[in-house]
Amino acid sequence: MSVDSNGNADGSSSTNVESEEFDVIIVGAGAAGIGVAIALLHSGVENFLIVDRSTVGSSFAAWPEETKFITPSFPSNSIGMLDLNSIAIGISPAFTMRVEHPTGKQFAAHLQDIANYFELPVEEDTDIKSIEKIDDMFHLGTDEGVLLSKNVIWAAGEYQYPNLAGFEGSDLCRHTSTVPSYGELEGDDFLIIGGYESGVDAAYHLSSRNKEVHLFDMNAPWEETTSDPSVALSTFSFERMRKPSFGQYTELYPNTPVSSVTLDNGVYVLKTEDGQIFESRNQPLLAGGFSGSHKFVSHLFEEREDGFPVISDSDESTITPGLYLSGPSVRHDGHVFCFIYKYRQRFAIVAQAIASSMDIETDDFVDAYKSWGMYLDDLSCCGQECLTC
Ligand SMILES: Cc1cc2nc3c(=O)[nH]c(=O)nc-3n(C[C@H](O)[C@H](O)[C@H](O)COP(=O)(O)OP(=O)(O)OC[C@H]3O[C@@H](n4cnc5c(N)ncnc54)[C@H](O)[C@@H]3O)c2cc1C
Repeated sequence: MSVDSNGNADGSSSTNVESEEFDVIIVGAGAAGIGVAIALLHSGVENFLIVDRSTVGSSFAAWPEETKFITPSFPSNSIGMLDLNSIAIGISPAFTMRVEHPTGKQFAAHLQDIANYFELPVEEDTDIKSIEKIDDMFHLGTDEGVLLSKNVIWAAGEYQYPNLAGFEGSDLCRHTSTVPSYGELEGDDFLIIGGYESGVDAAYHLSSRNKEVHLFDMNAPWEETTSDPSVALSTFSFERMRKPSFGQYTELYPNTPVSSVTLDNGVYVLKTEDGQIFESRNQPLLAGGFSGSHKFVSHLFEEREDGFPVISDSDESTITPGLYLSGPSVRHDGHVFCFIYKYRQRFAIVAQAIASSMDIETDDFVDAYKSWGMYLDDLSCCGQECLTC
Protein backbone atom coordinates (compact mmCIF):
# COMPACT_ATOMS: atom_id res chain seq x y z
CA MET A 1 0.00 0.00 0.00
CA SER A 2 1.32 3.49 -0.81
CA VAL A 3 0.53 6.95 0.46
CA ASP A 4 -0.28 10.00 -1.68
CA SER A 5 0.67 13.59 -0.85
CA ASN A 6 -2.56 14.06 1.09
CA GLY A 7 -1.86 11.07 3.23
CA ASN A 8 -4.48 8.86 1.60
CA ALA A 9 -3.68 5.17 1.38
CA ASP A 10 -4.52 3.49 -1.92
CA GLY A 11 -7.04 1.10 -0.45
CA SER A 12 -8.76 0.44 2.80
CA SER A 13 -7.20 -1.76 5.43
CA SER A 14 -7.86 -5.44 5.03
CA THR A 15 -6.74 -6.10 8.58
CA ASN A 16 -8.20 -9.29 9.91
CA VAL A 17 -9.11 -8.73 13.55
CA GLU A 18 -10.20 -12.38 13.78
CA SER A 19 -6.66 -13.56 13.12
CA GLU A 20 -5.03 -15.39 16.00
CA GLU A 21 -1.58 -14.05 15.23
CA PHE A 22 -0.99 -10.45 14.29
CA ASP A 23 2.06 -8.94 12.65
CA VAL A 24 1.70 -5.97 15.00
CA ILE A 25 -0.35 -5.13 18.08
CA ILE A 26 -0.42 -1.49 19.14
CA VAL A 27 -1.23 -1.01 22.82
CA GLY A 28 -3.05 2.29 23.32
CA ALA A 29 -5.46 4.22 21.09
CA GLY A 30 -4.36 7.73 22.00
CA ALA A 31 -2.61 10.25 19.78
CA ALA A 32 0.46 8.01 19.49
CA GLY A 33 -1.37 4.71 18.93
CA ILE A 34 -3.72 6.11 16.28
CA GLY A 35 -0.92 8.09 14.61
CA VAL A 36 1.53 5.19 14.43
CA ALA A 37 -1.29 2.93 13.15
CA ILE A 38 -1.88 5.27 10.20
CA ALA A 39 1.87 5.24 9.45
CA LEU A 40 1.81 1.42 9.57
CA LEU A 41 -1.11 1.38 7.15
CA HIS A 42 0.72 3.73 4.79
CA SER A 43 3.88 1.61 4.96
CA GLY A 44 1.95 -1.41 3.74
CA VAL A 45 1.60 -3.38 6.97
CA GLU A 46 -1.97 -4.68 7.10
CA ASN A 47 -2.33 -7.39 9.70
CA PHE A 48 -2.36 -5.27 12.85
CA LEU A 49 -4.64 -4.55 15.77
CA ILE A 50 -4.94 -1.59 18.15
CA VAL A 51 -6.08 -2.44 21.67
CA ASP A 52 -7.17 0.01 24.35
CA ARG A 53 -8.30 -0.60 27.92
CA SER A 54 -10.93 2.08 27.41
CA THR A 55 -11.92 4.03 24.29
CA VAL A 56 -10.07 5.85 21.51
CA GLY A 57 -8.67 9.08 23.02
CA SER A 58 -9.82 8.24 26.55
CA SER A 59 -6.90 10.04 28.25
CA PHE A 60 -7.77 13.27 26.45
CA ALA A 61 -11.44 12.77 27.30
CA ALA A 62 -10.45 12.58 30.99
CA TRP A 63 -8.68 15.96 31.08
CA PRO A 64 -10.29 18.53 33.39
CA GLU A 65 -13.19 20.16 31.55
CA GLU A 66 -11.42 23.52 31.20
CA THR A 67 -7.95 22.26 30.19
CA LYS A 68 -6.98 23.06 26.64
CA PHE A 69 -4.11 22.23 24.31
CA ILE A 70 -1.20 24.57 24.89
CA THR A 71 0.15 23.96 21.37
CA PRO A 72 -1.97 25.95 18.89
CA SER A 73 -3.63 24.42 15.86
CA PHE A 74 -3.54 26.32 12.58
CA PRO A 75 -4.59 25.04 9.13
CA SER A 76 -1.09 25.32 7.65
CA ASN A 77 -1.22 22.04 5.70
CA SER A 78 -2.00 23.80 2.39
CA ILE A 79 1.56 25.09 2.27
CA GLY A 80 3.15 21.76 3.13
CA MET A 81 3.52 22.37 6.86
CA LEU A 82 1.48 20.16 9.16
CA ASP A 83 -0.77 21.64 11.83
CA LEU A 84 1.21 21.34 15.12
CA ASN A 85 -1.44 19.07 16.63
CA SER A 86 -1.89 16.84 13.60
CA ILE A 87 -1.10 13.17 14.10
CA ALA A 88 -1.07 12.24 10.40
CA ILE A 89 -0.38 13.62 6.95
CA GLY A 90 -3.45 15.37 5.54
CA ILE A 91 -5.02 15.92 8.98
CA SER A 92 -5.55 19.31 10.62
CA PRO A 93 -7.49 19.61 13.89
CA ALA A 94 -7.74 23.37 13.21
CA PHE A 95 -9.44 22.76 9.87
CA THR A 96 -11.86 20.09 11.05
CA MET A 97 -12.71 21.58 14.46
CA ARG A 98 -12.21 25.32 13.83
CA VAL A 99 -10.51 25.61 17.22
CA GLU A 100 -7.02 26.86 17.98
CA HIS A 101 -6.62 25.31 21.45
CA PRO A 102 -8.89 22.22 21.63
CA THR A 103 -10.10 20.87 24.94
CA GLY A 104 -9.26 17.26 25.77
CA LYS A 105 -12.79 16.14 24.95
CA GLN A 106 -12.70 17.87 21.57
CA PHE A 107 -9.40 16.20 20.74
CA ALA A 108 -10.70 12.78 21.85
CA ALA A 109 -13.64 13.18 19.45
CA HIS A 110 -11.18 14.21 16.73
CA LEU A 111 -9.14 11.02 17.29
CA GLN A 112 -12.31 8.92 17.11
CA ASP A 113 -13.21 10.59 13.79
CA ILE A 114 -9.74 9.80 12.42
CA ALA A 115 -9.92 6.16 13.56
CA ASN A 116 -13.29 5.83 11.80
CA TYR A 117 -12.08 7.58 8.65
CA PHE A 118 -9.10 5.24 8.27
CA GLU A 119 -11.22 2.25 9.35
CA LEU A 120 -8.60 1.36 11.91
CA PRO A 121 -9.05 -2.01 13.64
CA VAL A 122 -9.51 -0.99 17.29
CA GLU A 123 -10.48 -3.32 20.11
CA GLU A 124 -11.74 -1.09 22.93
CA ASP A 125 -12.21 -2.17 26.58
CA THR A 126 -9.23 -4.51 26.29
CA ASP A 127 -6.78 -3.97 29.14
CA ILE A 128 -3.35 -5.47 28.62
CA LYS A 129 -2.49 -7.00 31.98
CA SER A 130 0.77 -8.72 31.06
CA ILE A 131 3.20 -8.90 28.20
CA GLU A 132 5.87 -11.51 27.56
CA LYS A 133 7.90 -12.64 24.59
CA ILE A 134 8.03 -16.41 24.18
CA ASP A 135 10.23 -17.63 21.33
CA ASP A 136 9.39 -15.24 18.47
CA MET A 137 5.89 -14.32 19.63
CA PHE A 138 4.59 -11.71 22.05
CA HIS A 139 1.87 -12.92 24.40
CA LEU A 140 -0.39 -10.12 25.64
CA GLY A 141 -2.60 -11.17 28.53
CA THR A 142 -6.13 -9.76 28.84
CA ASP A 143 -9.13 -10.77 30.96
CA GLU A 144 -10.55 -12.54 27.91
CA GLY A 145 -7.43 -14.47 26.91
CA VAL A 146 -4.07 -14.05 25.24
CA LEU A 147 -3.36 -12.03 22.11
CA LEU A 148 -0.43 -13.09 19.96
CA SER A 149 1.73 -10.86 17.81
CA LYS A 150 5.14 -10.85 16.15
CA ASN A 151 5.66 -7.16 16.99
CA VAL A 152 4.29 -4.84 19.64
CA ILE A 153 4.19 -1.06 19.63
CA TRP A 154 3.84 0.23 23.18
CA ALA A 155 1.79 3.46 22.97
CA ALA A 156 0.00 3.39 26.32
CA GLY A 157 0.97 6.96 27.21
CA GLU A 158 1.51 8.65 30.55
CA TYR A 159 -1.76 10.23 31.62
CA GLN A 160 -3.26 7.10 33.15
CA TYR A 161 -0.05 6.48 35.13
CA PRO A 162 0.28 9.59 37.36
CA ASN A 163 3.23 10.19 39.66
CA LEU A 164 1.74 10.09 43.14
CA ALA A 165 5.01 10.00 45.10
CA GLY A 166 7.70 12.56 45.83
CA PHE A 167 7.32 13.60 49.47
CA GLU A 168 5.80 12.47 52.75
CA GLY A 169 2.01 12.65 52.59
CA SER A 170 1.80 13.08 48.80
CA ASP A 171 -0.96 10.43 48.86
CA LEU A 172 -3.11 12.90 50.81
CA CYS A 173 -3.10 15.23 47.79
CA ARG A 174 -5.31 15.02 44.71
CA HIS A 175 -3.53 14.56 41.37
CA THR A 176 -4.73 17.07 38.78
CA SER A 177 -5.45 14.20 36.36
CA THR A 178 -8.35 13.16 38.62
CA VAL A 179 -10.05 16.57 38.61
CA PRO A 180 -13.12 16.51 36.31
CA SER A 181 -13.52 20.29 36.40
CA TYR A 182 -11.78 23.12 38.27
CA GLY A 183 -15.07 25.01 38.29
CA GLU A 184 -16.58 22.29 40.46
CA LEU A 185 -13.87 22.31 43.15
CA GLU A 186 -15.26 23.57 46.44
CA GLY A 187 -13.24 26.01 48.53
CA ASP A 188 -11.62 29.44 48.28
CA ASP A 189 -7.92 28.69 48.70
CA PHE A 190 -5.70 26.04 47.13
CA LEU A 191 -2.17 24.71 47.56
CA ILE A 192 -0.75 23.41 44.27
CA ILE A 193 2.45 21.37 44.18
CA GLY A 194 4.16 21.44 40.79
CA GLY A 195 4.53 24.55 38.65
CA TYR A 196 4.92 23.18 35.15
CA GLU A 197 2.05 23.12 32.60
CA SER A 198 -0.57 21.24 34.65
CA GLY A 199 0.12 23.26 37.81
CA VAL A 200 -0.06 26.59 35.98
CA ASP A 201 -3.21 25.39 34.20
CA ALA A 202 -4.85 24.60 37.57
CA ALA A 203 -3.70 27.93 39.07
CA TYR A 204 -5.05 29.82 36.04
CA HIS A 205 -8.53 28.26 36.22
CA LEU A 206 -8.77 28.66 40.00
CA SER A 207 -7.43 32.22 40.15
CA SER A 208 -9.78 33.27 37.34
CA ARG A 209 -12.56 32.18 39.72
CA ASN A 210 -11.11 34.45 42.44
CA LYS A 211 -9.65 31.54 44.44
CA GLU A 212 -6.44 32.15 46.34
CA VAL A 213 -3.62 29.92 45.05
CA HIS A 214 -0.15 29.08 46.42
CA LEU A 215 1.90 27.41 43.69
CA PHE A 216 5.08 25.56 44.71
CA ASP A 217 7.82 24.19 42.50
CA MET A 218 11.20 22.70 43.40
CA ASN A 219 12.60 24.56 40.38
CA ALA A 220 11.29 27.64 38.59
CA PRO A 221 9.79 26.57 35.23
CA TRP A 222 8.55 30.11 34.53
CA GLU A 223 12.15 31.40 34.75
CA GLU A 224 13.71 28.86 32.34
CA THR A 225 15.48 30.55 29.46
CA THR A 226 15.48 27.62 27.00
CA SER A 227 13.17 27.79 23.98
CA ASP A 228 12.25 24.08 24.27
CA PRO A 229 8.70 23.79 25.69
CA SER A 230 9.58 20.33 26.99
CA VAL A 231 11.67 22.17 29.58
CA ALA A 232 10.27 25.69 29.84
CA LEU A 233 6.64 26.79 30.03
CA SER A 234 4.70 27.32 26.82
CA THR A 235 3.76 30.72 25.43
CA PHE A 236 0.13 29.87 26.15
CA SER A 237 0.92 29.53 29.86
CA PHE A 238 3.05 32.69 29.95
CA GLU A 239 0.13 34.61 28.46
CA ARG A 240 -2.19 33.17 31.09
CA MET A 241 0.23 34.11 33.87
CA ARG A 242 0.06 37.73 32.69
CA LYS A 243 -3.73 37.90 33.20
CA PRO A 244 -4.61 40.30 36.07
CA SER A 245 -6.53 37.63 38.03
CA PHE A 246 -3.50 35.30 37.95
CA GLY A 247 -1.24 38.01 39.39
CA GLN A 248 -3.84 39.03 41.94
CA TYR A 249 -4.72 35.59 43.30
CA THR A 250 -1.66 33.36 42.65
CA GLU A 251 1.47 33.43 44.80
CA LEU A 252 4.45 31.70 43.19
CA TYR A 253 7.02 29.79 45.26
CA PRO A 254 9.96 28.96 42.97
CA ASN A 255 12.82 26.73 44.15
CA THR A 256 10.64 25.62 47.07
CA PRO A 257 10.50 21.84 47.45
CA VAL A 258 7.61 20.57 49.56
CA SER A 259 8.77 18.25 52.34
CA SER A 260 5.44 16.99 53.70
CA VAL A 261 1.67 17.24 53.75
CA THR A 262 -0.31 16.11 56.79
CA LEU A 263 -4.00 16.17 57.64
CA ASP A 264 -4.87 17.33 61.15
CA ASN A 265 -8.53 17.68 62.18
CA GLY A 266 -9.69 18.44 58.65
CA VAL A 267 -6.85 20.88 57.96
CA TYR A 268 -4.12 20.07 55.45
CA VAL A 269 -0.71 21.28 56.61
CA LEU A 270 1.98 21.72 53.95
CA LYS A 271 5.60 22.15 55.00
CA THR A 272 8.38 23.25 52.66
CA GLU A 273 12.02 22.21 52.93
CA ASP A 274 12.95 25.79 53.85
CA GLY A 275 10.61 25.68 56.86
CA GLN A 276 7.52 27.52 55.64
CA ILE A 277 4.11 26.20 56.73
CA PHE A 278 0.80 26.62 54.88
CA GLU A 279 -2.66 25.45 55.87
CA SER A 280 -5.86 24.83 53.95
CA ARG A 281 -9.14 23.01 54.48
CA ASN A 282 -9.09 22.05 50.79
CA GLN A 283 -7.22 19.01 49.53
CA PRO A 284 -3.86 20.14 48.02
CA LEU A 285 -3.52 19.56 44.29
CA LEU A 286 -0.60 17.51 43.04
CA ALA A 287 0.68 18.53 39.61
CA GLY A 288 3.77 16.38 39.82
CA GLY A 289 3.58 14.83 36.39
CA PHE A 290 3.41 11.19 35.38
CA SER A 291 5.51 8.11 35.98
CA GLY A 292 4.33 6.81 32.61
CA SER A 293 3.18 3.46 31.25
CA HIS A 294 6.70 2.48 30.23
CA LYS A 295 7.18 1.32 33.84
CA PHE A 296 4.67 -1.43 33.02
CA VAL A 297 7.00 -2.86 30.37
CA SER A 298 10.28 -2.06 32.14
CA HIS A 299 11.19 -5.79 32.19
CA LEU A 300 11.41 -5.69 28.39
CA PHE A 301 13.62 -2.59 28.04
CA GLU A 302 17.00 -1.54 29.34
CA GLU A 303 16.61 1.54 31.50
CA ARG A 304 18.31 4.92 31.14
CA GLU A 305 19.60 6.73 34.21
CA ASP A 306 16.48 8.94 34.17
CA GLY A 307 14.22 5.84 34.18
CA PHE A 308 13.12 6.09 30.53
CA PRO A 309 13.56 3.08 28.22
CA VAL A 310 16.72 2.66 26.19
CA ILE A 311 15.69 2.41 22.53
CA SER A 312 17.52 1.88 19.27
CA ASP A 313 17.62 4.28 16.31
CA SER A 314 14.32 2.64 15.27
CA ASP A 315 12.73 3.17 18.71
CA GLU A 316 12.95 -0.59 19.32
CA SER A 317 13.91 -2.17 22.62
CA THR A 318 17.61 -3.03 22.70
CA ILE A 319 16.91 -6.27 24.59
CA THR A 320 13.53 -7.39 23.19
CA PRO A 321 13.50 -7.35 19.38
CA GLY A 322 10.08 -6.55 17.93
CA LEU A 323 9.01 -4.31 20.82
CA TYR A 324 8.77 -0.61 19.87
CA LEU A 325 7.98 2.53 21.85
CA SER A 326 5.81 5.34 20.52
CA GLY A 327 4.67 8.56 22.17
CA PRO A 328 5.85 11.03 24.79
CA SER A 329 8.21 8.61 26.58
CA VAL A 330 10.52 8.46 23.56
CA ARG A 331 13.94 9.83 24.51
CA HIS A 332 17.15 9.93 22.51
CA ASP A 333 20.10 11.36 24.45
CA GLY A 334 18.84 14.71 25.75
CA HIS A 335 15.97 14.98 23.27
CA VAL A 336 12.51 14.78 24.81
CA PHE A 337 9.65 13.90 22.43
CA CYS A 338 6.80 14.77 24.77
CA PHE A 339 4.54 16.76 22.43
CA ILE A 340 2.58 15.52 19.43
CA TYR A 341 4.57 17.67 16.98
CA LYS A 342 7.70 15.95 18.28
CA TYR A 343 6.83 12.28 18.71
CA ARG A 344 4.72 12.10 15.53
CA GLN A 345 7.99 12.44 13.60
CA ARG A 346 8.99 8.99 14.86
CA PHE A 347 5.84 7.11 13.76
CA ALA A 348 7.24 6.43 10.29
CA ILE A 349 10.60 5.34 11.70
CA VAL A 350 8.82 2.55 13.62
CA ALA A 351 6.54 1.69 10.68
CA GLN A 352 9.49 1.50 8.30
CA ALA A 353 11.43 -0.79 10.63
CA ILE A 354 8.50 -3.19 10.92
CA ALA A 355 7.63 -3.06 7.20
CA SER A 356 11.28 -3.68 6.25
CA SER A 357 11.44 -6.67 8.58
CA MET A 358 8.53 -8.08 6.53
CA ASP A 359 10.37 -7.37 3.24
CA ILE A 360 7.93 -4.60 2.26
CA GLU A 361 9.55 -1.95 0.08
CA THR A 362 9.32 1.45 1.84
CA ASP A 363 11.17 4.02 -0.31
CA ASP A 364 8.01 5.85 -1.52
CA PHE A 365 6.52 5.76 1.95
CA VAL A 366 9.64 7.27 3.53
CA ASP A 367 9.89 9.96 0.81
CA ALA A 368 6.25 10.99 1.36
CA TYR A 369 6.68 11.17 5.13
CA LYS A 370 9.99 13.06 4.83
CA SER A 371 8.39 15.64 2.56
CA TRP A 372 5.85 16.37 5.30
CA GLY A 373 8.39 16.62 8.13
CA MET A 374 7.07 13.33 9.48
CA TYR A 375 10.29 11.34 9.40
CA LEU A 376 12.94 12.60 11.79
CA ASP A 377 15.97 10.31 11.69
CA ASP A 378 18.68 12.96 11.95
CA LEU A 379 18.51 14.38 15.45
CA SER A 380 21.49 16.71 15.01
CA CYS A 381 19.05 19.56 14.29
CA CYS A 382 17.29 19.14 17.64
CA GLY A 383 18.12 21.14 20.71
CA GLN A 384 19.09 24.33 18.91
CA GLU A 385 18.04 27.46 20.75
CA CYS A 386 16.12 30.31 19.10
CA LEU A 387 17.86 33.58 18.35
CA THR A 388 17.11 36.08 21.07
CA CYS A 389 16.62 39.15 18.91
C1 LIG B 1 -2.77 18.73 30.87
C2 LIG B 1 -2.03 18.29 29.66
C3 LIG B 1 -1.92 19.13 28.56
C4 LIG B 1 -1.23 18.71 27.42
N1 LIG B 1 -1.18 19.55 26.35
C5 LIG B 1 -0.56 19.15 25.23
C6 LIG B 1 -0.51 19.98 24.08
O1 LIG B 1 -1.00 21.08 24.09
N2 LIG B 1 0.12 19.51 22.97
C7 LIG B 1 0.69 18.27 22.93
O2 LIG B 1 1.25 17.91 21.91
N3 LIG B 1 0.67 17.46 24.01
C8 LIG B 1 0.06 17.88 25.15
N4 LIG B 1 0.04 17.07 26.25
C9 LIG B 1 0.68 15.80 26.17
C10 LIG B 1 -0.32 14.86 25.53
O3 LIG B 1 -1.36 14.60 26.41
C11 LIG B 1 0.35 13.62 25.22
O4 LIG B 1 1.24 13.92 24.18
C12 LIG B 1 -0.62 12.57 24.72
O5 LIG B 1 -1.70 12.31 25.56
C13 LIG B 1 0.13 11.31 24.60
O6 LIG B 1 -0.61 10.49 23.78
P1 LIG B 1 -0.44 8.95 23.95
O7 LIG B 1 -1.20 8.34 22.83
O8 LIG B 1 0.99 8.61 24.09
O9 LIG B 1 -1.10 8.63 25.35
P2 LIG B 1 -2.62 8.62 25.80
O10 LIG B 1 -3.37 9.71 25.13
O11 LIG B 1 -2.62 8.54 27.27
O12 LIG B 1 -3.14 7.24 25.18
C14 LIG B 1 -2.76 6.01 25.74
C15 LIG B 1 -3.91 5.05 25.60
O13 LIG B 1 -3.46 3.79 26.07
C16 LIG B 1 -4.48 3.16 26.79
N5 LIG B 1 -3.83 2.25 27.74
C17 LIG B 1 -3.03 2.55 28.77
N6 LIG B 1 -2.61 1.45 29.39
C18 LIG B 1 -3.15 0.41 28.74
C19 LIG B 1 -3.10 -1.01 28.92
N7 LIG B 1 -2.39 -1.57 29.89
N8 LIG B 1 -3.81 -1.78 28.06
C20 LIG B 1 -4.55 -1.23 27.06
N9 LIG B 1 -4.63 0.09 26.87
C21 LIG B 1 -3.94 0.91 27.69
C22 LIG B 1 -5.25 4.28 27.45
O14 LIG B 1 -6.59 3.92 27.68
C23 LIG B 1 -5.12 5.41 26.44
O15 LIG B 1 -6.25 5.51 25.59
C24 LIG B 1 -0.64 17.46 27.39
C25 LIG B 1 -0.74 16.62 28.49
C26 LIG B 1 -1.43 17.02 29.61
C27 LIG B 1 -1.53 16.10 30.79
